[in-house]
Amino acid sequence: MVVGSGPNGLAAAVTLAQAGLRVTVFEAAETIGGGTRTAELTLPGLRHDLCSAIHPLGVGSPYLSGLPLERHGLTWAWPEVDLAHPLDEGSAGVLLRDLDATCLGLGRDGRAWRQVFAPLTRHFDELARDVLGPIVRWPDHPMLMARFGAMAGLPASVLLRRFRTPQAQALFAGSAAHAYQPLHRPATAAVGLILTAAGHARGWPVAVGGSAAISDALASLLQELGGTIVTGHHVRSVADLPPADVTLLDTTPTAAAELLDGRLPRRVERAYRRWRYGAAAFKLDLAIEGGVPWTAEAARRAGTVHVGGSWRDVARAEAEVAAGRLPEQPFVLVAQQSLVDPSRAAGGLHPLWLYGHVPQGYDGDPDVAREAILDQVERFAPGFRGRIRATATRTPADHAAENPNYVGGDIAGGANDVLQLLARPRLSTDPYATGVPGVYLCSASTPPGAGVHGMCGHQAARSALRHLG
Ligand SMILES: Cc1cc2nc3c(=O)[nH]c(=O)nc-3n(C[C@H](O)[C@H](O)[C@H](O)COP(=O)(O)OP(=O)(O)OC[C@H]3O[C@@H](n4cnc5c(N)ncnc54)[C@H](O)[C@@H]3O)c2cc1C
Repeated sequence: MVVGSGPNGLAAAVTLAQAGLRVTVFEAAETIGGGTRTAELTLPGLRHDLCSAIHPLGVGSPYLSGLPLERHGLTWAWPEVDLAHPLDEGSAGVLLRDLDATCLGLGRDGRAWRQVFAPLTRHFDELARDVLGPIVRWPDHPMLMARFGAMAGLPASVLLRRFRTPQAQALFAGSAAHAYQPLHRPATAAVGLILTAAGHARGWPVAVGGSAAISDALASLLQELGGTIVTGHHVRSVADLPPADVTLLDTTPTAAAELLDGRLPRRVERAYRRWRYGAAAFKLDLAIEGGVPWTAEAARRAGTVHVGGSWRDVARAEAEVAAGRLPEQPFVLVAQQSLVDPSRAAGGLHPLWLYGHVPQGYDGDPDVAREAILDQVERFAPGFRGRIRATATRTPADHAAENPNYVGGDIAGGANDVLQLLARPRLSTDPYATGVPGVYLCSASTPPGAGVHGMCGHQAARSALRHLG
């Protein structure tokens, strides 16, 4: 039994079905996919990604990349520019799949960029196998992990001093800010390193048709392997499920404690109930006439645009969010999927996906947050507001109401501070085991954490299969 059909729940289900088990997935929502769903949110014909949009770790996932998902309808599409980070004076830090071209574009920082990223890019497959799994274990590639670990343990604000230009510094800071942590905290460099290395090794693609294509492909594969998915079924207690050899929970640790209702060993129950949630996403989906008029030319060709200004601006915004305040100038992520996937657009209207980092559980005036996010984009694309034809807003409370895993609008399954990176959700050589025989946690609250890569689900299922011998 698998509770929850997010990418991790589905990856867990496919792993079990590949091993010959009969698998049933129960999903609370009417549609499958959790954080990988796509719908017309603004105007007819415009297909918006409700949650995930850009998939460096999807295309780079050691597990997903080995599955025949293309045969089940998944096609990746790569933008000309993977990521642009515009600055106030009109230039931008630019990440391309091509490491050489990226280094060339970064001018006098090209050499430093290459020194940091060339080894991680060259050995990305080995790195991904070690990093996208439980942290507390002996790595398969100790030398590579030692090199990665020495940089990953640093605060992003320290690592980016290897670069001198505002473009390279901002480019790295924007990717590190995916950790949703103040950039001076230890280990905030880790997320920036892995996302950038994935970008150079595999790119930052979108799924053609929308991120729902990822979960649809996993679901189709699961059904081919004999699995079943039941939607519209909110599981309230594991005791209500039909008897099963193993049960995997694509839920938060807090929800797992509720679902297991006193059956967890005391030590595990305490860890699950103490689990801390991180900052939240305030999401806007827009219908834009003719695309965004970015000042920086590279941003007009980019699948992803990080909007936050200099690295210090980004660091200030993240520190404000951690302190519980809505920044006047929040860090905003923008995706322009229709640049590479025209099926999302309708006529001259394009879907624009953006979200700003706001404090955990932010319940302030939605107009204030929405205006702060739109102002940030206008700062780097004058005239942008005049092209908006429709807006759909999703507050942290909306995220939490739609998906019980997004507590207080935290889309990462729990705060990514150094403690919760190591003890995710508790310090153990098998972080997926709940301590209740046959029951495993498989969500983004387990290693390696947030993102559409399926590795939490796959590793949890492997742990369950070991239990079954
Ligand atoms: C706005 C936003 C933007 C994002 N952008 C990106 C991005 O660009 N790239 C990227 O890689 N990642 C992105 N993410 C993160 C990514 O979507 C998540 O990390 C990922 O979906 C986590 O997968 P999961 O399977 O652990 O959980 P989820 O995808 O959250 O799925 C959990 C599922 O379990 C179901 N469920 C929970 N409890 C129960 C229950 N008791 N009974 C039945 N069903 C239950 C839920 O309804 C849900 O469908 C984004 C997320 C959001 C919200």
